[in-house]
Amino acid sequence: MQRYPHWIDGKPHPPASDAWLDVHAPASGEAIAQVAAGTPPDVDAAMLAAQRAFPMWSSLPNSQRARWLERLADALEARLEEVAQAESRDGGKPITLARDIEIPRAIANLRFFAHAATQFASESHHGEAGLNFTLRQPLGVVATISPWNLPLYLFTWKIAPALAAGNCVVAKPSEVTPHSATLLAEIAASIGFPPGVFNLVHGAGPTVGEALVTHPLTKAISFTGSTAVGKRIATLAAPLLKKVSLELGGKNPSLVFADSDWRDNLDTIVRSAFQNSGQICLCGSRLLIERAVYGEFRDAFVERVKSLRVGDPADPATQIGPLVSQAHFDKVMRALAIAREEGAHVLCGGDAIDRPGWYVAPTVLEGLGPDTATNREEIFGPVVTLQAFDNDDHALDFANASDYGLVATLWDRDLPRALRFARELRTGMVWINTWLMRDLRTPFGGSNQSGLGREGGAEAMRFFTEARNVGISM
Ligand code: NAD
Repeated sequence: MQRYPHWIDGKPHPPASDAWLDVHAPASGEAIAQVAAGTPPDVDAAMLAAQRAFPMWSSLPNSQRARWLERLADALEARLEEVAQAESRDGGKPITLARDIEIPRAIANLRFFAHAATQFASESHHGEAGLNFTLRQPLGVVATISPWNLPLYLFTWKIAPALAAGNCVVAKPSEVTPHSATLLAEIAASIGFPPGVFNLVHGAGPTVGEALVTHPLTKAISFTGSTAVGKRIATLAAPLLKKVSLELGGKNPSLVFADSDWRDNLDTIVRSAFQNSGQICLCGSRLLIERAVYGEFRDAFVERVKSLRVGDPADPATQIGPLVSQAHFDKVMRALAIAREEGAHVLCGGDAIDRPGWYVAPTVLEGLGPDTATNREEIFGPVVTLQAFDNDDHALDFANASDYGLVATLWDRDLPRALRFARELRTGMVWINTWLMRDLRTPFGGSNQSGLGREGGAEAMRFFTEARNVGISM
C-alpha cells in the first residue's frame, strides 16, 4: 500500500513514531494508502528546517521568490492529470471538478501570489510629522492548517502568499486527504525548490495541528476548517500572542426574488447548493424564496436536483460523489435524523444511497423555520432547506438568522435592493446573480462564527508580514 511521508528540508521523512494512519477511498470505503501519523518531534524537525532556510529565502529579491512560485506552478501544471486523479480518489470528488476547477485553481493560486510578490508595496506618510514609511517584513516560520474539502486549492491558497511574502512554511493538510499535498511537496523537491522553505507535516489535528500552533518558532497560523477547531486554535494561540487567521464554517443563505432570472440560472443555483456534495464552505444550504414564486421554484428546483448524476467520482459524467469519510457520513445522517424529528418534509433524497462508499442522496427539505437546528447548524453535505419569505425585511431577517456569516447569494434584478442587502447582510461576502465568482485580489473571509481575518490579495500579503514604521525627521 502506498505511504505518504512528511516532506522536511526537501526530502521525504518517515514519521518519528513509525505510526501510520489509513487513508480511505470514499467511493468504496476501503483503505487505499497510509499517511504518516506525525508527532511533536516531526513538527520540531520541520520547524527547525524552516528556521534554517529563512535567512536565505527572506533575503532573496521578490522577483526570485516569484520565479520559484512560477516554476512550482508550471511543474504542478505538467502533472495536473495525476494530481487531479489523486484528489478525486482520496476525497471522493468528481474527477471533472478536480481536473477542470480545483487543481487549475491551485496552479492559479501559485501564479497569482508569484505576481503579488513583485507588486506588493507598502505605505508612506508625510506632511504631518516628518516622513514615515512602512517596512513590511516576513514573519519568519509560519504554520498553515487546511481541511479536506478543497485539499490542494486551499493548501496553496495559504502557502503561496506565505512564501511570496518571504516566510518559510510548515504546512499540515488534512489527514483525510493527504495525497495531493504530498505530490506537491514531491514536485517542489523535483524542481530543486530551496530545501526547508516549504515543509509538509502530516497527521491528526490534535497531535500535529496543536504542536504546530504552540511551537515556539511559529509566528503565525493560517487555518481553514471547522468553527470548533478554529476556536481551539484561537484559545491555544492567544496566550502565546501568535497571529491567527481563521476561515471557518458557514450556513449560507441564497435568496431568490420573484423578479429575478432564477429560471435561467437554475443550474447555477443547484450547483451552488450541491457542488462537491455540498462540502464547500461557500455552498448555499438555506434557500430563501419569495413566496410569490415559491411553489414554482420548489418544483423546478427539486426536479433538477433529482436529475443530478450521482456516481463514481472517477467517471467524468458524475456530478455528485460520496461524502469524504465515515465520520462525516455519520454526521450528515445524524443531521437528517434531526431534520425529521424537527418535522421536515423531505422533497427528495433524505437518506443514504445503497451502494458501497459514503453516498448520501441530494436532499431538499421544507417546512422548517429559521430557529431549527437544521437551519442553524452547519451540515456540510448534500442537504438544503427551502423557506418562503414575504417581503424584503422578512428576507433580511431570515438571511441574518444565523450565528455564521460567510457568504450570501442574491438572485435579484432590482439592483438598488440588492445593494441595500449587500450593506445589511451580516456576511463577509455577497454574490449578486452569481455564485463562487472569485477575483483573487478581493478580501475573502467570514464574520461572526465564520472566522476572523481575511485572505486573498493584499490582505494575505499583509497577514504574512509585519509592519514596521520608520520615521525620519524632515
Ligand atoms: P476540521 O476543523 O476538522 O479540520 C481542519 C484541519 O484542522 C485539518 O487539517 C485537521 O487535521 C486540523 N485539526 C483538527 N483538530 C485540530 C486541532 N485541535 N488543532 C489544530 N488543528 C486541528 O475541518 P474539516 O472537517 O477538515 O473541514 C470542514 C470544515 O471546514 C467545515 O466546517 C467548513 O465550513 C470549513 N471550511 C471553511 C472554509 C472557509 O474558507 N471559511 C473553507 C473550507 C472549509
